Amino acid sequence: MFDLSARAQEIRERLIVFMREVVAPGEHEYHAAVAEPGQRWLIPPVMEEMKRKARAAGLWNLFLPDSRHGAGLTNLDYARMAEIMGRSLIASEVFNCSAPDTGNMEVLHMYGNEFQKRQWLDPLLAGEIRSGFAMTEPDVASSDATNIRCRILREGDQYRISGKKWWTTGAMDPRCKFFIVMGETNPEAKPYARQSMVIVPRDTPGVRIVRPLHVFGFDDAPCGHAELAFDDVHVPLGNLIYGEGKGFEIAQGRLGPGRVHHCMRLIGLAERALEAMVARAKSRIVFGHPIARHGMAQEAIALSRCEIEQARLLTLSTAAALDKLGTRGARDRVAMIKVVVPRMACQVIDRAIQIHGGAGLCEDSFLGQAYAGARSLRIADGPDEVHIMTLSKMECERAVV
Ligand SMILES: Cc1cc2nc3c(=O)[nH]c(=O)nc-3n(C[C@H](O)[C@H](O)[C@H](O)COP(=O)(O)OP(=O)(O)OC[C@H]3O[C@@H](n4cnc5c(N)ncnc54)[C@H](O)[C@@H]3O)c2cc1C
Repeated sequence: MFDLSARAQEIRERLIVFMREVVAPGEHEYHAAVAEPGQRWLIPPVMEEMKRKARAAGLWNLFLPDSRHGAGLTNLDYARMAEIMGRSLIASEVFNCSAPDTGNMEVLHMYGNEFQKRQWLDPLLAGEIRSGFAMTEPDVASSDATNIRCRILREGDQYRISGKKWWTTGAMDPRCKFFIVMGETNPEAKPYARQSMVIVPRDTPGVRIVRPLHVFGFDDAPCGHAELAFDDVHVPLGNLIYGEGKGFEIAQGRLGPGRVHHCMRLIGLAERALEAMVARAKSRIVFGHPIARHGMAQEAIALSRCEIEQARLLTLSTAAALDKLGTRGARDRVAMIKVVVPRMACQVIDRAIQIHGGAGLCEDSFLGQAYAGARSLRIADGPDEVHIMTLSKMECERAVV
C-alpha cells in the first residue's frame, strides 16, 4: 500500500545514505558549534557545507511538486522523504526543505508576481537566504485568524504596517531576509476578506526584534522564534502578495502540504525515539532483568509501535488524498493528522523519556528537545481544538439524518 514511484525509491535510498554519511556526523559538529560561547545565533559553517553537498547530490527542494524548481515528487512520494529527514532535528534544512521557508516558497510560487519571484523566491530556492511567516499576535487569540489586528494601510504608493507579532519562527536567523506578514487592509470588509499578506524585508526601518522566545527553555538557536514589532514600517505597494483581502485564501493554500510535512517529520522523530527506547530497555538491568523484560515496558514498546504505524498510514493516505483531490478535497484528512500525529509523537517520546529515567531528561539525550518540538505542534499551525472543530463540522454536514 502507498508504494513509492521508482524515481522516488531511488531518491529515498540516496537520502538514507546521505543521512548516515553526512548528516549524522555533521549534526554533532553543528550542535557543538552552537553551544560554544558567543556562537548561539551564528550559523555553523558545517550547515552550509552539508547544504552544498546535498544540492550537488540532487537532494534539494524535494518538497516542491513543480519539477522546474524542485524534485517534482508527489505529496505521497515526498512524505516518505520527510519521515527520513524528521529523524534529525536539523536535517530538513540541509535539503532546503525546512519550515517556514517551504511554506513561504509555496506561497511565492503559487501567488507571487514575477518580480517577487525573482527577488525572494529564487534566493530561497537556492538556499541563499531564509525567511519568516508572521501571522500570530500576542494580544489576540490568533487561532481564530479573523482576530489578527496588525494594520496594513495603503498610503500613496506605499503600505504602512503597524502591529505586534510573535512566535515568528526563523526570525533570529542571521540569514532571514524577509517576513511574509499577515494583517488587516480593510477592517470594514467581510471577516474573511479583511486580511492581506505583504513582503517585509527584514532590514526595513521600523522592524524590530523584541525578544527571542523559548519552548520549555529551548531557544532553537540559531534559527529561533521571536516576538517582533512593526513600528510604522513602509514598503512599496508591489510587496502585496496576490491582492488585497486574499490573506485567508493564501493561508489555506499554504497549510495543506506543510501539515503533511510536519506530521511525517514527527513520525520519523517518533521512530527514532522508539529505537532509543528499545535500545535502552534491552541494555539496562533493573530488578534482575533488562527493562524490556518487564511487562510495563513491553506495553510501552508495543503500543508505541502500534501508534506509529496507525499515524503513518493515516498521514500517507492524507498525502495521497492531497495529490488526488487538492488541499480543499483533503481538508478533513489534513485536520485528522494534525490532531493525531503530534499527540502520538508526544506519547511515544514521553514513554522513551520514562524508560531512560533521568538520562532521558538531561541534555545528553535528544528526547527533551524532541518532546518540546512535538508538543509545540499541538499548538503551532493551529491548535488541536481548531482542527477538531473543523472535523466535527464536516462530519455533521456529511451525516444524513
Ligand atoms: C514553536 C512554535 C512555532 C510557531 N511558529 C509560528 C510562525 O512561524 N508564524 C506564526 O505566525 N505563528 C507561529 N506559531 C504560533 C501558532 O501558530 C499559534 O500559537 C497558534 O495558532 C495558536 O494561536 P494562539 O497562541 O494565539 O492561541 P489562542 O488563539 O489564544 O488559543 C489558545 C487556546 O485556546 C483553545 N482554543 C482555540 N480554539 C478553540 C476552540 N474552537 N474550541 C476550544 N478551544 C479552543 C486551544 O486550547 C488553544 O491552544 C508558532 C507557535 C509555536 C509554539
